Amino acid sequence: MTPLARLLAARIAAEGPISLADYMADCLLHPAHGYYATRDPFGAAGDFTTAPEITQMFGELLGLCLAQCWLDQGRPARFLLAEIGPGRGTLMADMLRALKALPAMRAAAEVHLIEASPTLRARQRQTLGDHPVTWHDGIHSLPDAPLFLVANEFFDALPIRQFRRSGAGWAERQVGLRDGQLTFGYAPPVPLATLAPRLADTSEGDIVETCPALPAIAGDIARRIASVGGAALIIDYGGWQSLGDTFQALKSHAFTDPLAEPGLADLTAHVDFQALSQAFRTAGAASTAMTLQGTFLNRLGLAARTEALARNLQGAALDTHRAAYRRLTDASEMGELFKVIACHPTGTPAPPGLDPPDAQYA
Ligand code: SAH
Repeated sequence: MTPLARLLAARIAAEGPISLADYMADCLLHPAHGYYATRDPFGAAGDFTTAPEITQMFGELLGLCLAQCWLDQGRPARFLLAEIGPGRGTLMADMLRALKALPAMRAAAEVHLIEASPTLRARQRQTLGDHPVTWHDGIHSLPDAPLFLVANEFFDALPIRQFRRSGAGWAERQVGLRDGQLTFGYAPPVPLATLAPRLADTSEGDIVETCPALPAIAGDIARRIASVGGAALIIDYGGWQSLGDTFQALKSHAFTDPLAEPGLADLTAHVDFQALSQAFRTAGAASTAMTLQGTFLNRLGLAARTEALARNLQGAALDTHRAAYRRLTDASEMGELFKVIACHPTGTPAPPGLDPPDAQYA
């Protein structure tokens, strides 16, 4: 048993089974034993690789996408260039490099990073060298100024709850104990007002996931953008409206049992883009449609950028570079599993590359 498994087992023995959300929160961010709190999980030697760690082109294109929004919104003289869940800081570094093409914007940008892990804050400091940066625990402490924000693979790390349909009620999936070991179980079914709308499109035994922190975080971001300007680009794996069990654990680039090694494996779930879009619109901002990552990046010119950089490469470096393009865009790799959605102030042009809002809102 890991040290965190022992702590969780003692807590469950004393207080009873806990929700998946409580389990995930401790596994990821427990101050002494949490996965993100204690390590740098990225890259070949780590547990998973994210788009900015695959190629610099990803951050460059997101930077240019936000640059277009900044121009469209009248070039605000002071604004926040922000990222929530910045990992190693690679995406922010690549955005800042791309903004060298627009010196007025780069000079006006105040960099703000929202990061819960002290270990990763230190890694971000290293990556960003001496560039001035302010760190935050949450959105609430960001200064009041136009907010141009990115979030890549952040929302999938937020704790989820899972419910199994049983008649007109819902049984919550829990982590309990059997013979001293952590095990999954279900609470007795109860009717839930928040899931009442899902009775229309689910049947007996179906699993629905909710992410309790998502509406508040996405709503805070969108409320600022709606009132003082800016745009947010959210990229993650997931789909439109949660259905099915997507709770997963990754260790050393392979799926593993989420209960086997709490604190030592990454735990995630698919992001519900309908919930993001609803939070944006409830906060008074405009939402784009959910758009496939491959479509979005190709519209922003990823193929041309790949060719431009390819001219200076050869041999294995050239092969890796071309493979990066395929990894980000191919339907069989990240191109369709990953989606993008954005919010922006009503009445301003949407960030380039995204589908306009459409029938998804029905
Ligand atoms: N965007 C990065 C890293 C994604 S991993 C990339 O694409 O490579 C998720 C990141 O979110 C990590 O930096 C993790 O420490 C951070 N994180 C997870 N939960 C958080 C929370 N509740 N508040 C702030 N940061 C959080």
